[in-house]
Amino acid sequence: MKISLVVPCYNEELTVETFYNEALPVLKNMAIDYEMIFVNDGSLDGTREKLYKLAKTDVRVKVVNFSKNFGQQAAILCGFRHSDGDCVAELDCDGQDPVSLLPVMYEKFLEGYDVVHGRRLKRRSESVFKRATASLYYKFLHSVSTTKIPKDTGDFKLLSRRVVDAVCSMPEHDKYLRGLESWVGFKQTFVDFERKSRVAGKTHYSFKKMSNLAKAGILSNSNWPLSLSLKIGLIGGFLSILGFVALIILAATGVNFDAAFWLIPTVTLLASCGYVFNGISNLYLANVYNEVKDRPEYIIDDTVNL
Ligand code: UDP
Ligand code: MG
Repeated sequence: MKISLVVPCYNEELTVETFYNEALPVLKNMAIDYEMIFVNDGSLDGTREKLYKLAKTDVRVKVVNFSKNFGQQAAILCGFRHSDGDCVAELDCDGQDPVSLLPVMYEKFLEGYDVVHGRRLKRRSESVFKRATASLYYKFLHSVSTTKIPKDTGDFKLLSRRVVDAVCSMPEHDKYLRGLESWVGFKQTFVDFERKSRVAGKTHYSFKKMSNLAKAGILSNSNWPLSLSLKIGLIGGFLSILGFVALIILAATGVNFDAAFWLIPTVTLLASCGYVFNGISNLYLANVYNEVKDRPEYIIDDTVNL
């Protein structure tokens, strides 16, 4: 058995060595083969040199340096592609994802789970703003997405080789890994932990980066925004017809009203027609998008007598 750690690093010169020093005894205690794959996501500080130093003293440390900052998701994916462990753990190198949990996650893997999610029980280290926006966002994502991403889970997970291979084989480019890791199915479980503060440095997720990740989450897991136009058009059209009926009844019962009132349902009906036709185009667009993502129609767990 071999475990691969996939560790994305962006400007982490202050944390990579601490991470390595904490992970090493944990991995040695697990008494299995291991590798640590650090993906340096275009750091501008001394991360590259720190990683070279680690790799020089330990051949199990593997380093990939990106040509620029491509983002955490790309870095994790690259780590997956270079890993060859029977199971793969993805975790941050800032100490927020505790390496001490790896043996517990590995036990779950041995019990037959393909995805072991690290679930954040407490997030006291994060700002009230981050916790509130994350909570609202995940509620929204949960309600609109076809794949239900478990609550309070992030990118800290242990995955079986077949899950990693399935995720890597997805042709879509803007991968939202935590969505895909849930989408693949198989037996999934949780290990709870308290998310502590970073050991050093500060978060690299600016509001812009956070928004981009949030957008990728919605687009990769839901066609709900595309379905809005048709819904608005149909509701608007229905209300416009009700408006016409109301005016006809008023006119028939001899109530006097300005002729201009007829314009209201006329305008809203015309606008609704526009929404409906746009909504119909969106149905095709959603289909095209699904085709372009080109995910497999199914993933087989196992077979009998085949
Ligand atoms: N990271 C990365 N590329 C980026 C941003 C972050 O590889 O563009 C790495 C970072 O070095 C860390 C992990 O992704 O190991 C999580 O980032 P961070 O701790 O800044 O995010 P937070 O925990 O605050 O959400
Ligand atoms: Mg962090």
